[in-house]
Amino acid sequence: FDMFFLAFVERLFRPTFKKDDLVLGKKLGEGAFGVVYRASLAKKPSSKVPYQKEGDLVLKKATEYGAVEIWMNERVRRACANSCADFVHGFLENSSKKGAEYWLIWRYEGEATLYDLMQSKEFPYNVETMMLREVQDLPRGLERENRIIQTIMRQLLFALDGLHSTGIVHRDFKPQNIIFSEGSRTFKIIDLGAAADLRVGINYIPKEFLLDPRYAAPEQYIMSTQTPSAPSAPVATALSPVLWQMNLPDRFDIYSAGLIFLQMAFSGLRSDSALIQFNRQLKRCNFDLNAWRKSIEPRASSDLRKGFELLDLDGGIGWELLTSMVRYKAGQRISAKGALAHPYFDREGLLVLSLMQ
Ligand code: ADP
Ligand code: MG
Repeated sequence: FDMFFLAFVERLFRPTFKKDDLVLGKKLGEGAFGVVYRASLAKKPSSKVPYQKEGDLVLKKATEYGAVEIWMNERVRRACANSCADFVHGFLENSSKKGAEYWLIWRYEGEATLYDLMQSKEFPYNVETMMLREVQDLPRGLERENRIIQTIMRQLLFALDGLHSTGIVHRDFKPQNIIFSEGSRTFKIIDLGAAADLRVGINYIPKEFLLDPRYAAPEQYIMSTQTPSAPSAPVATALSPVLWQMNLPDRFDIYSAGLIFLQMAFSGLRSDSALIQFNRQLKRCNFDLNAWRKSIEPRASSDLRKGFELLDLDGGIGWELLTSMVRYKAGQRISAKGALAHPYFDREGLLVLSLMQ
């Protein structure tokens, strides 16, 4: 079957929403390209709509980029549904005073993003509590924190691997765009507004101004400038697997994921200002994490020292993973799949490794 035919059939059987079906609640966020609200269904929806019992929804009213975001969410819900927030429906709303807007509806996943959770002094124990997977045999301390961070990293990489295997690069992977789903008790990715679908060539030209400089990899553009710009869709379909191999655009997200790993390990790097300062230091070290470590460790605060200690557990396997994600050259960064197979996530592997030392 043709992918577009399948998409069409799926749409036929999925009821649609209209503007009047929704009651807007609290504003959850406001960016340059849209406003996000909590929402619920009207008591008497004008059209036959699903999710009547679930109730809690999220609505994004987006500008012109909403079209791309709808495309990405439709793709994700068919190809890797568990990676991202549960998308319900997206449509063009023409009746707004501000002109045409795209409205996107998701299921409300929960109240906390990874960013919110990381701002708490309790992190990462607050996450452990929400996952209800207490590591009871361990007292509070580095070992237990490391295990929680491992669990979070595994979930993030799993979700990223889903996106990347689908041919989608997120390009705005950061704690603010990772939501804790209270239903599945796992982290899910949100905000596909800056994403690129390389297999079909949607949003092919990188919109560098959409990228968050705090988490962006040094190459900034996911494709080299040699890449022909904006090929027509069929050409992109034919070429993109090759381009994927050549330029490894997925490694852009891996760099961002590495910075999130870093922030989880180092409590002193969790604030925006500390991350910006870290980025400056790393740039001065030519993006060599080991060089950064050498320059910083002798005069490190106790916060920073604790981070190094955590990543040095089990023969430094955490530090090894981190340094294979945060590298200057995209081609030298590990893939999401590769990272999931890294011994950092493998308890038995850890044991073998420590016995060998
Ligand atoms: P923006 O373009 O404003 O960054 P996002 O898609 O990142 O839009 O959403 C903004 C905020 O809304 C998120 O940081 C999160 O707090 C909340 N949010 C978005 N989607 C969901 C969802 N499915 N469930 C719960 N909260 C959500
Ligand atoms: Mg966002």
